[in-house]
Amino acid sequence: METIYLAEKSLDTALRFFEGKKVALSYKPELEYSDKILSVKPDAILLAKQAFYTTIEGKRPIMKEWLKNLFMEGFNLEISDEAAEQFVDIASAKTNRFFKEKLSSFEGDIILFPPFLNVKSDKESDEYVVHEVWHLIEAEKSVLGIATDISEGTATYAMKSFSGKGCDKTVEELEDFEQIIYQGAGNIVQKHVQKSENPYTSMLISKVREDIREEFLGRVKPVLKRIAKKSIEDESPESMKVDYELLMGMPEFQSLKGNLSKDELIKAFRRYGAAGMAEELDGQNMNSLINYFRKIGFE
Ligand SMILES: [Zn+2]
Repeated sequence: METIYLAEKSLDTALRFFEGKKVALSYKPELEYSDKILSVKPDAILLAKQAFYTTIEGKRPIMKEWLKNLFMEGFNLEISDEAAEQFVDIASAKTNRFFKEKLSSFEGDIILFPPFLNVKSDKESDEYVVHEVWHLIEAEKSVLGIATDISEGTATYAMKSFSGKGCDKTVEELEDFEQIIYQGAGNIVQKHVQKSENPYTSMLISKVREDIREEFLGRVKPVLKRIAKKSIEDESPESMKVDYELLMGMPEFQSLKGNLSKDELIKAFRRYGAAGMAEELDGQNMNSLINYFRKIGFE
């Protein structure tokens, strides 16, 4: 009960804040509290349901780059743009379908999950809610679908500037994919809009968004190459467990458990619908990828 109260207060603060910045939402979003964690994303604190689906779709270009880099740097496997795109298109459609199923029982616009109980202060709660409300503003102004790869960046910038902090870490200084998508993109957003008369209205201009996106994707490429290798080599046991559970959650990959071989792995990619990747991988040495599956728990 107290949680909802805290979030409601933050929602009022966020709505007032954006009203003052001349980018008000036309409606008051409804909050809903889930007493269960989101099984597919157990660390989810809160999310703006409608905007969430668009952001998954919109992350496809960056996810494609990430996949190619992971396979090349982590497993010495080359995948073409077309094959990577096919895989990512399928993965994001499946992810969206899956989340829609999980979230269909909720009627609220912003859903809060149990990790929200760990929120320490009003300030922290305000920041989270400001972030989600910004996604809803972009959705209402019909720009969330434009340069969507930077949408976590714009939301992060809105959230940080609300609390008087900056997005000061550059893409090149970050070591983690998630941080790059949020804070790294936020830093480039900041660079493009902070000197404008109203950074918030600026973030809603298509041309500004496209310019930010172009810089972001350009700068992020060499960084992804560098961190991909590291993210496989130095992966923590917790993160391996997440990867394992993610793969085991997909019916196409489940049967690999205790049944690992190059042939089976290729069949799994085919079942998934990624015929291009299956074909391209077939001609290459897949030992490191097989070892990786073994290491995370598929033995
Ligand atoms: Zn977000």
